Amino acid sequence: NNVQVTVLGLGAMGSALAAALVQAGHPATVWNRSPGKAGELVAQGARAAATVGEAVKAGQVVIACLLDHASVHEVLDPLIDDLAGRTLINVTTTTPAQAREMAAWAAEAGIAYLDGGIMAIPHMIGQPGASILYSGSADVFDEYKPLLDLWATSTYFGEDAGLASLYDLALLSGMYVMWAGFLHGAAMVAPAGVTASQFATMAAPWLTAMTGGFQGLAAVIDGGDYTVEGQQSLEFSSLDDLVAASADQGISTEVIAMVQGLIQRQLDAGHGKEGVARMIESIKHPGH
Ligand code: NDP
Repeated sequence: NNVQVTVLGLGAMGSALAAALVQAGHPATVWNRSPGKAGELVAQGARAAATVGEAVKAGQVVIACLLDHASVHEVLDPLIDDLAGRTLINVTTTTPAQAREMAAWAAEAGIAYLDGGIMAIPHMIGQPGASILYSGSADVFDEYKPLLDLWATSTYFGEDAGLASLYDLALLSGMYVMWAGFLHGAAMVAPAGVTASQFATMAAPWLTAMTGGFQGLAAVIDGGDYTVEGQQSLEFSSLDDLVAASADQGISTEVIAMVQGLIQRQLDAGHGKEGVARMIESIKHPGH
């Protein structure tokens, strides 16, 4: 495949993306704001552009992997005329609103635009387990999928350019709350002399097994009926013992009390006989 590819941004992630392309034999031009970051890529066959303008003109497809939304505008705004008619794939982390703004900016200028959210760390690029989420132009995704697949498993969510970022941030939300849950448990057993490592040995298989219940919860939510048989009920899900035991251990109850609050709002509204999936109603409707 001899698509001319340009990579803007040779930080930890941009370098990994560029290296995967070069190693697969793509003619690649690379650019970084500060000099001195292209050496290894050039040794592998990439061409280093002296200016970002030169880099953009060399690429049929331009990959942007910069710090944030503002830096992408800072670099690309002056080059809008050179980008017209080319393809821009922006894998810089942004919010959904910023991704939509960038897509509108690109559309106005006649630039084909695909937005990406990277669910991997640099050394995972090109390895099994790496995932990159995309939204924006379906034509760009379809045309360049073989190239994108060199980096990671590529998943496309739709023409709304904000969707990849939305999924990315939703998945990260799940990760952070899960981390807090694991750490809460580790803090609970610590005063009993249990190391975090010993607790992790028990927690990892337990939490992994619990993910097996996600589709069951999802089926109830998507079905729109929280009274269907076979679910754990909200009134059966009292967290009083968990909160009391945490307090007895002298640790913060914030993490577990947060979940208790979500359940309590549904109990207060008279939904105790319904399933735990109903907790999502407390999240969807703040304060109800
Ligand atoms: P680094 O901090 O390693 O690199 C940042 C890059 O952005 C450098 O090339 C830097 O250039 C460039 N940059 C910053 N500000 C500007 C600017 N105003 N103008 C031009 N260039 C600028 O970050 P990463 O490579 O790790 O991350 C890049 C993107 O990838 C980020 O959006 C990040 O969120 C995302 N990402 C990273 C992951 C990771 O694990 N590293 C995971 C998932 C996503 P210079 O060398 O001149 O400073």
